[in-house]
Amino acid sequence: MSVTAGLRAPTSADSTELAGRVAVVTGGASGMGLAAVHALAARGATVAVFDLAAPDAEEIATALVVPAERIRSIAVDVTDGGRVGRAFDAVLAERARLDILVNAAGIAPPTAFEDITETEWHRVLAVSVHGTFLCCQRALPAMRVGGWGRIVNFSSTAGKTISTAGGAHYTTAKHGVLGLTRHLAKAYGPGGITVNAVCPGLIDTPMARGLLPPPVLEEAVRSFPVPRVGLPWEVAELVAFLASDRAAYITGAAVDINGGDLIV
Ligand code: NAD
Repeated sequence: MSVTAGLRAPTSADSTELAGRVAVVTGGASGMGLAAVHALAARGATVAVFDLAAPDAEEIATALVVPAERIRSIAVDVTDGGRVGRAFDAVLAERARLDILVNAAGIAPPTAFEDITETEWHRVLAVSVHGTFLCCQRALPAMRVGGWGRIVNFSSTAGKTISTAGGAHYTTAKHGVLGLTRHLAKAYGPGGITVNAVCPGLIDTPMARGLLPPPVLEEAVRSFPVPRVGLPWEVAELVAFLASDRAAYITGAAVDINGGDLIV
């Protein structure tokens, strides 16, 4: 588990808002996924973390200061339909319901367009687009049974314009996530299920730090209307809001959170 600063909001949440809800967060071992795990668990949800290597659930609970029984951890490559299916089966067998899905898994290689191999092209789209498709397809039937559901997909500023540091495959993948989000919002709204996307700008996570060394990152954000890098918890608070009853009338939205870097 890679913990960065800024995972937890400085103010405490209503610890009962999501009580009884069961959530899955892909890419939940790091960065904004991990911050979303905290934001949901702090509001009372039980959260299953799906990530490549199953992080230690107790370690996550301790680091995030949430009760250990609220966190479950399963090793899942979201591009693998069989493993995704077994992971959702395990959550449903244990909890008998699924209410919230946050698709945060993603990779963003900075490869120049002419150097992108077919393998890398497919991998980037597989994690963001195919993985989101597989998880939504597994989650939606359970949400339909419950007559309530919240899906929050991770797109990016790259999904509305072009990526700051990722390659053309990343930009393409994040546009794809928005298309899937909009299609599912229309199809599942009548069943009490909302489907939205968040579009973060530059957020201080291991991904961003891997792409842009700190001095470059600091320089990049200096011209933003809010002249600083975003923090994982700031995005996680938006995710938790979209996952709550308070956001019941928001669906099919692609919500920007970028310090004003992109104003549209
Ligand atoms: P991060 O690298 O800190 O975390 C991403 C997590 O996804 C990691 O734990 C990784 O192991 C997991 N993951 C990768 N491939 C996976 C797979 N095949 N199956 C399961 N898990 C997998 O990144 P982050 O910055 O927190 O990014 C979270 C999401 O936000 C990503 O979708 C990313 O594209 C998007 N995003 C990030 C930024 C940013 O500035 N950091 C900006 C816009 C959008």
